Amino acid sequence: MTKWTIPLSDVTFDEEEVEAVSRVIRSGWVTLGEEVAAFEDEFAASVGAAGAVAVANGTAALHLACIALGVGPGREVVVPTLSFVASANAVRLAGGTPVFADICGPRDLTLDPEDVVRRIGPATVGVMTMHYGGHPSRMDALRELCRERSLFLLEDAAHAPGGRFGGAALGTLGEAGCFSFFGNKNLTTAEGGMVVAHDPAVLEEVRLLRSHGMTTMSWDRYAGHAWSYDVVSAGYNYRPTELTGAMGRVQLRKLPANTARRRELLARYRRGLEGAPGLSVPFDAEDGGSAHLAVVLLDDGEAREPLRRTLAEEGIQTSVHYPPIHLFRHYRETQGTAPGDFPRSEDAARRVVSLPLHPRLTDADVDRVCATLLDALSA
Ligand SMILES: *Cc1c(COP(=O)(O)O)cnc(C)c1O
Repeated sequence: MTKWTIPLSDVTFDEEEVEAVSRVIRSGWVTLGEEVAAFEDEFAASVGAAGAVAVANGTAALHLACIALGVGPGREVVVPTLSFVASANAVRLAGGTPVFADICGPRDLTLDPEDVVRRIGPATVGVMTMHYGGHPSRMDALRELCRERSLFLLEDAAHAPGGRFGGAALGTLGEAGCFSFFGNKNLTTAEGGMVVAHDPAVLEEVRLLRSHGMTTMSWDRYAGHAWSYDVVSAGYNYRPTELTGAMGRVQLRKLPANTARRRELLARYRRGLEGAPGLSVPFDAEDGGSAHLAVVLLDDGEAREPLRRTLAEEGIQTSVHYPPIHLFRHYRETQGTAPGDFPRSEDAARRVVSLPLHPRLTDADVDRVCATLLDALSA
């Protein structure tokens, strides 16, 4: 395996997470309990949501949010094709059909509200947007078009903990917001996810479905709050653990400082790269985003793989976010999608490169990435 001197992402663990996990192990109660409950309350308060329900991972969060919002057979949800495949898979897991839509363009890689309107039909029940790289989607337009048509708006906020739009936290602007705490996300518990919502009925449905549709949990019975339970729907086991709950509380406390550092580093990339020949830097500076990814678009997509190899030789890890979902074999075969269907997403996907970004990067690391990139482009 390559030893990266500048990895794409890194965790921000220290003795605090070690202490939190150790505390749980010593307590002997490792499944759903007080740590998870406290993490949910603290997370909900931090984003200003009525409530939050922690689950096993971000995909589970999206799946349960889709069900709670009424996705099911014969129902369609408009989804950006330039996202992680879980955005679309979650709609399918809930029994619905993801209908893809294009992004705004090379300066804004989030869902295009005008294309969303074109994809809406009689079976559409909602719109899922994804805050690409933590940059806010066009929330004013998306909220308005959903309100006018009585559609739900679901935010895939996997990239967006710590991000804001017009004074509100990303993830709280629609009917529900879903977060991922996977190892490379801005807040990580190794694996984990969270659903936030304003409607108590949505939160209650997610809470039931994450644990078999059971009305009481082992913890309630252990604590003497209940001695039996009923099952009100055929649910899942999407429970988080006390270990991840305890880690999440520590990571949540670190999030403001980590986000501030990410934003500084992203601004440094912008200063180092904006206006350079051969590439462009998408999005607006200081858009309130969570600075999850640092992406550039090369003018020439053909130059990307050689360029990524050059960076790799210098120990600099890069990535591509994302291959468009509509081009994966599963979606081509089941939904008949094809190359050319979403030209702006396909164009961005050919030219985009993600550069290292995480709170432990130094200014000198960013300068070295910029210099190596610009050298390689002019070679
Ligand atoms: C990471 C991610 C997910 C899925 O989260 P998991 O915790 O890995 O299941 C969903 N959508 C997007 C955009 C992501 O980046």
